Amino acid sequence: MDIKSLYLDELKEEMKRLGQPAYRAGQIFEWMHGKLAASYDDMTNLPKDLRKQLDRQYPLTALRVADSLVSEKDGTVKYLFRLYDERIIESVLMKYHHGNSVCISSQVGCRMGCAFCASTIGGRERDLAASEMLDQVYRIQALSGERVSNVVVMGTGEPLDNYGNLVRFIRILSDPNGINISARNITVSTCGIPDKIRMLADEGLPVTLAISLHAPNNEIRKKLMPIAREYDLQQVMDAAGYYFERTGRRLTFEYCLIDGINDGEGHAEELSGLVRGLNGHINLIPVNPIKEKSFSKSNSNKIQKFKNILEKNRINVTIRREMGSDINAACGQLRKRYMEHGGNLPGT
Ligand code: SAH
Repeated sequence: MDIKSLYLDELKEEMKRLGQPAYRAGQIFEWMHGKLAASYDDMTNLPKDLRKQLDRQYPLTALRVADSLVSEKDGTVKYLFRLYDERIIESVLMKYHHGNSVCISSQVGCRMGCAFCASTIGGRERDLAASEMLDQVYRIQALSGERVSNVVVMGTGEPLDNYGNLVRFIRILSDPNGINISARNITVSTCGIPDKIRMLADEGLPVTLAISLHAPNNEIRKKLMPIAREYDLQQVMDAAGYYFERTGRRLTFEYCLIDGINDGEGHAEELSGLVRGLNGHINLIPVNPIKEKSFSKSNSNKIQKFKNILEKNRINVTIRREMGSDINAACGQLRKRYMEHGGNLPGT
């Protein structure tokens, strides 16, 4: 049993089964999720023999750092973590004036197949457990010694393709007895799976939803994102509208600008029409070229023009600040490089 993925109520049930008083569950929950204990040895207010018994019956796993890279430009840190089964995932710590933000992975690999993305090249190996998503945040807070105030689920994987574990992760992450990161400070980014967006809207969790659009129409979207062959843009936008209605959370639309593909003036007009009437803003992201694909970034003139058109149409728009560009490689590239070189980061 994966004890770190249990809700407090479930942990209470387990303790009852062991013949332990209910308050033990509260103590253990606080050690795991509040004090970020990586082993039972840390849980000094539990009797020694109970710690031994827990260790036998509910092995407590914690992610191990396989490698890390620090940006000299802005202090961004990329972590490669090793899972209990030796698989590797990637997480990022970004430092902003308003606080520290951690970007986590939700799966090992991804099966969505987006044309510009490195994370999907080897397909999906497996889903991450809630505990493995939590631990990315916990270990980074413990290692950096600084409070994490925001979490974005924008690393490798499609979070809505790992729905049950994602919701569990959000509930435990925002539990006041744990690390207590408010759901309002959590962002979930999705390639746009309408039925799952609606399910999330009905969970009663005020997380911010970011939708990866990347195209102003179905035709272009289908070329970039296989998911667009299953659901057309209107279905995605309708689900987004429902999400806002139910949660009152302003939507974010992510739009990667790829030279010559989706960055024309006509595309900006078309995109304006698509998001008009929805309460959201557009985040423009110059695409991060990956070596396996021939896409390149739009130049800054074109990006500015694109932004101006959206603004003229009264659409809220920002250009995403590039963090850690010196250590970067787009999502999933660091992990990929590490795996290709047998557990080494060449040239670092
Ligand atoms: N699967 C989810 C979350 C992970 S990807 C999603 O699709 O939203 C997080 C964001 O990074 C998405 O907007 C994704 O499209 C974007 N992304 C992937 N590869 C990129 C690249 N090479 N350059 C810029 N953004 C990229």
